[in-house]
Amino acid sequence: MKLVSTRNANESVEFSQAILAPSASKGGLYSPLSLPNFDGYKFKDLSYKDFALKLIQSFEFKLDKLFERALQSYEKFDEKSCEKHLKFSGKSCPIRLFKVNDKLYINELYHGPTRAFKDMALQPFASLVSELAKDKNMLIICATSGDTGPATLKAFESTLNSRVVCLYPAFGTSSFQALQMTSLKAKNLKSLAIKGDFDAAQRALKDLLSDSNFKESLNLAKIELTAANSVNFGRILFQIIYHYYALVQIDKEADIIVPSGNFGDALGAYYAKKMGAKIRRIKIASNSNNILTDFFTKGEYDLRNRVLQKTISPAMDILISSNVERLIFDKFGDKRTFELYEKLKNENYFKLTKNELNELKKDFEAEFCTDRECKKFIKDFSKIALIDPHTATCFKFKNDKTSIITSTAEWVKFVPSMFEALFDKPCVDEKNAMLEITRAYKNDLKSELLALFDEGQVEGKIYEVAELKNTILQWIKGDNK
Ligand SMILES: *Cc1c(COP(=O)(O)O)cnc(C)c1O
Repeated sequence: MKLVSTRNANESVEFSQAILAPSASKGGLYSPLSLPNFDGYKFKDLSYKDFALKLIQSFEFKLDKLFERALQSYEKFDEKSCEKHLKFSGKSCPIRLFKVNDKLYINELYHGPTRAFKDMALQPFASLVSELAKDKNMLIICATSGDTGPATLKAFESTLNSRVVCLYPAFGTSSFQALQMTSLKAKNLKSLAIKGDFDAAQRALKDLLSDSNFKESLNLAKIELTAANSVNFGRILFQIIYHYYALVQIDKEADIIVPSGNFGDALGAYYAKKMGAKIRRIKIASNSNNILTDFFTKGEYDLRNRVLQKTISPAMDILISSNVERLIFDKFGDKRTFELYEKLKNENYFKLTKNELNELKKDFEAEFCTDRECKKFIKDFSKIALIDPHTATCFKFKNDKTSIITSTAEWVKFVPSMFEALFDKPCVDEKNAMLEITRAYKNDLKSELLALFDEGQVEGKIYEVAELKNTILQWIKGDNK
């Protein structure tokens, strides 16, 4: 299948090209012109991997073998399950579906090596990239607010032809997340703490990707540049599958509730719906950076009077939610997308027409949740299970319909906030707090997670955005010696 630019549908590329060089000209994102139909319900009895392959084939036949190998990376996920998990999981199924009651399920997507749902896409994605780029050397850059970074680094750990640089906001992640990034010692990996918030990191990434001097310098070293952020369609594809598979397993119409930041996870649900999954609505949960709530309820995307707020769900501390562009393209076409994003660039603002908004409302609802509410949801639900602060935002929706909450991270990544929510006192020491929660809630913790606190060390340097280009080039040179 060819993918086209969201801002100019005449610009099209092969699937493999979109994965290795994801940015379209004029700032668009490569997306499918239309979604294929896929009757997943026929495949209810297939394993997750076989189901995934069928779904992928509805997009793309040519890369079959590559995808098959890529999906084997799910064998690295843990196989732990409890009596509340639906029994479909079996060997190398990366997801768990936790049944709270007949109307509420939690789709646990965090059983991968770095304990956030980013592994769902990045594990197979890394395998795809290194095979597609077999005869090349790649540099993958990612911007992270705390979960994409560890997942990207881990996925590319010791791949032979790929280096990874990860940009993260110096004070924007938990200690655990910073340790996850900096404790990986493979020579092909580099993490840089930068001055600024996640949007600054994301902007720096976009600038690097479109910097022709930078690319030239890399090309001289025979290195090609790509990005691992969820703007890469290669990641989105893997994020359709887990929504669809969960729905097929419960085999009834349901709402999907998604804690949203860059809108990749939610876009996956929307695509699943268009392909044939019985999704009633996709419910977009935000924290107090509630730009998506405004977008889906008022039809406006307004950056003018907004300042990014730090919350206890940092992966959702985002104002420029990149994948919304793909939704707009799918609903309203390339010309309208171009027009709206020009307006956003020039005026920091755009507004949909009433008809357009109504069109969105057929598929979406949106709510946001303050930190205080979020902590209450964590505490209340702790009688049943521990949920992380991102997943907790989903509890803002009253679930009168059958619903699947998308659970995006394991609580261990956000110990300070979990501790405050559960015990109503400040967390002094992240490691001790982790142990205390484990004891109080009889949670069995993987020992390597705890070991991180003893082994890891975070490098002190914080980089200016302007320094990044040279720092990266220097690192690569040093690496070549
Ligand atoms: C990345 C992330 C999100 C947001 O996902 P998007 O696809 O960016 O909307 C939510 N929760 C957690 C824990 C994450 O790591």
